[in-house]
Amino acid sequence: MPPSNELGVVTLKKGKESIIKSRHPWIFSGAIANVENVSVNGQLVIVKSYQKENLAIGSYSQNSQISVRIWSFDTDLIIDKNFFVERFNNALQLRKSIFQSEDTNAYRIINSESDLLPGLIVDYYAGYYVVQFLSASAEFFRDIIIQIIKAQNDCLGIYERSDTESREKEKLQQFNRILYGNFQPDKILFKENGLSFYADLSNGHKTGFYLDQRDNRLLVQKFSYGKNVLNCFSYTGGFSIYAINGGASFVTNIDSSESALKMSDENHSINNIPKNKFQNIEGDVFKLLRKFRDENKKFDLIILDPPKFADSEPNITKASRGYKDINLLSMKLLNKGGILFTFSCSGHISLELFRKIINSAANDSGKNVKIIKQLTQSSDHPIVINFPESFYLKGFVCYVE
Ligand code: SAH
Repeated sequence: MPPSNELGVVTLKKGKESIIKSRHPWIFSGAIANVENVSVNGQLVIVKSYQKENLAIGSYSQNSQISVRIWSFDTDLIIDKNFFVERFNNALQLRKSIFQSEDTNAYRIINSESDLLPGLIVDYYAGYYVVQFLSASAEFFRDIIIQIIKAQNDCLGIYERSDTESREKEKLQQFNRILYGNFQPDKILFKENGLSFYADLSNGHKTGFYLDQRDNRLLVQKFSYGKNVLNCFSYTGGFSIYAINGGASFVTNIDSSESALKMSDENHSINNIPKNKFQNIEGDVFKLLRKFRDENKKFDLIILDPPKFADSEPNITKASRGYKDINLLSMKLLNKGGILFTFSCSGHISLELFRKIINSAANDSGKNVKIIKQLTQSSDHPIVINFPESFYLKGFVCYVE
């Protein structure tokens, strides 16, 4: 880390200091008047108003539209190892208060801006830490961050999944590798709410598992007793295993990924679930929902947890059509009094828009649909008031009459 006299200086355009006053941790390139003394990507900078008032300390990204990610609005703070230790411990303390039992030993410890550490993700799976340096800001402090993780008492290994699109945008090299320890990263066994799962840290989605759906899986379990369940976009079987644990009579899982379904099979097996309780179908949800409709199939509970349909603003209209399509078909496939768990993890689809899409699907289905619960991401993925982008997962539990 450079000594403080090597701080770069970013001066904002006139009037743009309002961004900082709202405590949003990003400064876009368009708000910047001038950049001085920055030689290294991710280097620390002091952010000044046009009138030269010190506003914040952040890291400067040379290749991103988000030019500065803020570490602190206290400009006297020194961004050194102690700073990161404290932020890490604060984040850990929150998780310790959420996960007090041994029943769950996989969770997100650092959720980037939500834990005031922009660009850094740290997930924990039963002693193994998976780290993602998403931006130049986090990349700049890589060594310190790895030292802090290594120093955790329970650290058996560290895996790096810095193979994200965000790094591509920042022109940072992609990494998918073991950083510390000697272990097989493709099959890490962990527990969630007393159930067992494998995560593939090297090839799995995100860091291996959708930890953000943990709380919603528990709710599915509560609703599943005696029900014939259809689990769309099932990945490695998370919702299915909870549903069967909650007494579902049968679960049909659909996913397009052969490797995800293979792990789904293994996850069912390690929870001693008999083969006559579920089936894994490899296929396209859009096509299979239509096939089920034509075959007059019915279900009591349907889960729709699709991948991000809208990854940018121009895609919102097309994505909305996709969401409406699968929701409309699902509403029609439900028996009277059926339950629909429906999600959108697209940051670009607002809660309001998602509600409108569900409303429109309900109207076209000709059924009476009631939202009985509103859902979001699990509590280890906190939502920060000053950073609305941290609220990305929206869901509804619908009662379909
Ligand atoms: N519900 C899962 C996470 C779903 S992630 C869980 O809780 O673990 C989205 C999944 O959708 C991925 O596994 C991906 O392989 C699958 N997928 C993407 N497009 C699909 C499609 N058109 N049909 C079926 N599966 C699809």
